[in-house]
Amino acid sequence: MGILEGKKALIFGVANSRSIAWGIAQALHREGAQLAFSYAVPALLRRIEPLAEKLGSTFVEQCDLSQDDEIDRLFNKVSVDIGNIDILIHSVAFANRDELSGPYYATSRDGFRVALDVSCYSFTSVVRSALPVFNPGSSCLAMTYYGAEKAVQHYNVMGVAKAALEASIRYLAADLGPLSHRVNAISAGPIRTLAAAGVSGFKAMHSKFTDLAPLRRNVTIEDVGNAAIYLCSHLSQGVTGEIHYVDSGFNTVGLSTPSRE
Ligand code: NAD
Repeated sequence: MGILEGKKALIFGVANSRSIAWGIAQALHREGAQLAFSYAVPALLRRIEPLAEKLGSTFVEQCDLSQDDEIDRLFNKVSVDIGNIDILIHSVAFANRDELSGPYYATSRDGFRVALDVSCYSFTSVVRSALPVFNPGSSCLAMTYYGAEKAVQHYNVMGVAKAALEASIRYLAADLGPLSHRVNAISAGPIRTLAAAGVSGFKAMHSKFTDLAPLRRNVTIEDVGNAAIYLCSHLSQGVTGEIHYVDSGFNTVGLSTPSRE
C-alpha cells in the first residue's frame, strides 16, 4: 500500500511528459494518490488527456492562472467533482522569451509584471482558493530554482520571480500553519523541459552541471517526484516554509573543480 493511499492531489503545470509536474504526478500515483490535473491553455488538452488517463485521472480542467475568474471556476468544479483535496502542486512559471536573454536591466515593465504574476502571485492565488477544499493537514508544493538566490546568467526576471515565490512560501507557511496545512518548495537543478528551453544558453548550462555538482549528474523529473512524496506525505509532517534542494548538491559547493577525478 502506497503512503498516499486515500489522498487527493490537484496538479498544475503538466505541459507534456517532460514536465516536472509529470514526474511528480507519476510519483504521487505510484504512492496511491488520486489525481486531478489543470492545464494552462486549450491547445494543451490533447497532450494532457492521454497522460492523465494513464494515471487513472478523469479530472482534466483548463485554467489560466493569470485569470482570477478562471481560478474561481476551477475551484468550484473541484469542489463539486472531487470534494476536498490533500495535496496542491504548483509547477508553473512563465516569462516572455525576450526577457530570458541579455542583461537583467533590460527587463521591460510589462515583462516584469507578467513573470511575477504567473510565476509567483498565481501560487498565492491558488493556495487561497484551495483553502475551502483542503482537508486538515494538507500540503502545498511549488517549484523554484537557484536563480532566486544567485544571479544566473539569462535567468533574469525569472530569478526575481522565484525569489518572490520563495518569500511567498514562508509567508503562506506562516499563515496556514495554524490551520495545520504545510507549504514548501523544491528547488530543482536544471532539467530539459519546455520552460527551460526558453532560457538562453540553457543547454550549455545543463551539460556543464554534471561537471560541477557533487553527485556529477543532472537531476531528473523522477528525482523531483520522489522528493515531492516526502514533502506531500506525513513523512514531512514537521516541515513547512522550506526550500528543499533536489540539485545533486550543486547549491552546497563554492568553487567546484570541473573534473571527474
Ligand atoms: P514546463 O514547461 O513543462 O512547465 C511549465 C508549466 O507552466 C506548463 O505546463 C505551462 O503550461 C504552465 N503555465 C505557464 N503559464 C501558465 C498560466 N498562465 N496558467 C497556468 N499554467 C501556466 O517546464 P518545467 O521545467 O516542468 O517547469 C515547471 C516548474 O519548475 C516551473 O515553476 C519552473 O520554473 C520550475 N523549475 C524548472 C527547472 C528546470 O530546469 N526545468 C528547474 C527548477 C525549477
